[in-house]
Formats: sequence, C-alpha cells, structure tokens
Amino acid sequence: MKIIMLGAPGAGKGTQAKMIAHKYGIPHISTGDIFRTNIKEGTKLGKEAKEYMDQGRLVPDELTVKILLDRVEKEDCKNGYVLDGFPRTIPQAEVLTDALGKVGDKIDYAINVEVPDKNIISRMSGRRACLGCGSTYHLEYNPTKKEGICDSCGSETVLRDDDKAETVKKRLLVYHEQTHPLMIIIRSSLFYTRSTVLWICKMYFRQLPIY
Ligand code: AMP
Repeated sequence: MKIIMLGAPGAGKGTQAKMIAHKYGIPHISTGDIFRTNIKEGTKLGKEAKEYMDQGRLVPDELTVKILLDRVEKEDCKNGYVLDGFPRTIPQAEVLTDALGKVGDKIDYAINVEVPDKNIISRMSGRRACLGCGSTYHLEYNPTKKEGICDSCGSETVLRDDDKAETVKKRLLVYHEQTHPLMIIIRSSLFYTRSTVLWICKMYFRQLPIY
C-alpha cells in the first residue's frame, strides 16, 4: 500500500504517518528527516538543504526528487510506504506519478491532515525534537517523561530552528503558495482524471485527531 500524507508543516502528518506505517508494517519516509540526517552527518546534500530549511523555504525539486526516488527503490519499500512531506510541489507529484506509472503502479491513498494556521503556530512553538534520534514531542500534548530528555534515546530535546515562530510563518506561506494547490488537484481527482496527476485519491480525512 502506497500512501501520501498531505498537510501544512506542523499539522501532525508525521505523527499520523508513523501510526499508519506501524499498523501496516511499511516504512515511514519523511524527506524532512532525510535532510535532517544529512545535515547531522555534514554531507554535501545536508549543507545545501540546510540553507533552504533555515529560511523556511523548500529545498529545490532537483535535490528532493532524487533522494526520494532512491529511497523508494530500496528493498523495504516493495510492499509500499507512507510518504510524509513528499510531494510538496506539483512537479514533485508529477515525477512520482511518472516513476510509478512506468512500473504500472500508483499511489493508493492520499490523506490530508487539515489544521488551521493559528493552531499550527502555537503548536509548533511547543514542539521539541531529539538531537540524537529525531523523535518529536510536544511540551503540552506529548511531553517527555523527563523534561528536555528524549524518552527513546536519552539525548537532549530542543526547539528546531525550522520550528521557530518566524520560520513557521514563512513555511506556512510557502505551503499555501506551493503545496496547497497540489492538494486541490489531488482532491479534485476524486471526480476527474487529470492528465498531470493520475492517482486516485480514495480517502480524504479532515481534522484527524493529532495527539
Ligand atoms: P518537514 O520535516 O517535512 O516539515 O520538512 C522540513 C523542511 O525540509 C521543509 O521546510 C523543507 O525545507 C524541507 N523539505 C522536506 N520535504 C521537502 C520536499 N518534499 N520538497 C522540498 N523541501 C522539503
């Protein structure tokens, strides 16, 4: 089963994606996590991605599409995957659709997690991420057992640079300009066959419980 998760940054896509991946025994693939791992490891890709991420901008499609296609070709993806944070632009969606189409495949489900911007801004300021394993928490809704310490690996948890209020506002602007139009296309594909995006959106969730 191949699933894509749509929604604004901080809407809770990642939390939902992990639960779905666990339930169906398929990998959870987050392009944001792949970039963060590369930043931590100091790779060339990480250095390039960081410049965009710190400004709340999208990493260019050329870089993003390649890492995603390489990842979904791995052996653990043969029974499907949950994509969290990809596609974020119409060209990204087209590349994915074409790559799957070449092997007679398609995305099975697109799930949109819809949360108003004002809730996202307040929620993200309370989000904390582990410096060691990347697990995420929330000061109020999902706190660590010991303040500032990751439950999973014991490393320090911090407010990520891209979760700071100013960056979040910028990320929301980028979402409304570049990613929301994609969601509209996918949603309308319930009723029309589009030449650009050919997958069928079978599910459309509104206001999923986030935590
Ligand atoms: P996320 O953890 O999914 O919110 O992603 C964090 C940041 O990584 C985003 O604000 C972008 O800068 C970058 N990023 C993640 N996925 C993509 C993507 N599909 N296209 C472009 N940039 C991305």
